[in-house]
Order: sequence, then structure tokens, then C-alpha cells
Amino acid sequence: MGTKGREIVDLDVEQLIAFLNRAFADEWLAYYQYWIGAKVVKGPMKEAVIAELTQHAADELRHADMLALRIIQLGGMPITKPQTWSDLSNCGYHAPDTAMVKEVLEQNIKSEQCAIATYKGLVDLTAGKDPVSYNLLLQILGDEVEHEEDLQAQLEDLESLLESVPR
Ligand code: FE
Ligand code: FE
Ligand code: MG
Repeated sequence: MGTKGREIVDLDVEQLIAFLNRAFADEWLAYYQYWIGAKVVKGPMKEAVIAELTQHAADELRHADMLALRIIQLGGMPITKPQTWSDLSNCGYHAPDTAMVKEVLEQNIKSEQCAIATYKGLVDLTAGKDPVSYNLLLQILGDEVEHEEDLQAQLEDLESLLESVPR
């Protein structure tokens, strides 16, 4: 832990670490939700959706990495037990049980919307109080906004494709 680096944080550091750990749990669940979704998804536009889900999985894992490093910098300990991820997460986990493209996209859009709300809250919390966490959280927020838009665009494409199929 860097003592001066921690000293400049104008927030309850233990509470901040707890919030960052909750986001860290979200990222692992988001990573797995995308990763398994990319493996099992079926239906129209499957190839394009797999490419997007795979890319997003990599982003979520990178977010987990960024959060873990910041938690350690602040003198905290990233969650060590995967079995606590669900309890500590803000956004939970949506299992792609039907594996249908439309459902997988909708589940991940829901998760991204929760992630956007979570990171907006953390960006507001750290603004003017902890520039290092703020910068990191802002970068993640920007990625989550991009993820939501990517998935909504694919859902739109899927819907217009289904409408164009003669019945
Ligand atoms: Fe993320
Ligand atoms: Fe995301
Ligand atoms: Mg994308």
C-alpha cells in the first residue's frame, strides 16, 4: 500500500474498497455470463453475436483486473472466494439457459444497464475525492455504455432480420 496514495483519498477508504469489491464481483459474473453465452448461443446471427460476446468477455475480465489492482493499491484485498461473487454483486448473474440469441442478448443488455447504473454511482462518489479511482471507474463506465449499445444494435438487426423472413 502506498501511504501517500491512500492519504489523498478524501473518502472512507474501507467503504470505497468494499464498493470496488462489489464491482469486482460483478465483473467476474459478467465475464462468465459472456463467456458461457458465447459457447452455447444458438439461432440467427449467431456468428456475429459470438464475436461480440467474446470481445465483451475479454473487456469484463480486464475490468476485473483493473479493480483488483486498485483495491490492492488502496490496501485492500480483492475477493478471494468465487462462491461469494453472487452475494456481493450488484447486478447478479443471468444464466443463458435457453441459449437462444434473442434471450442471450436481452439478458446481457439488462446486465449492462445495471453495470452502467453501478458505475455511474461510483463515478459520482469518487468525483473530486479520489482522482485515481475516478479515472479508472470512468474508463469502465465508457466501456459499459459501449457494450449496451453494441448489444442493442445487434438485437435491432436480429429483429429486422426476423421481420423480413416471409411467413
Ligand atoms: Fe465491466
Ligand atoms: Fe460490460
Ligand atoms: Mg463490443
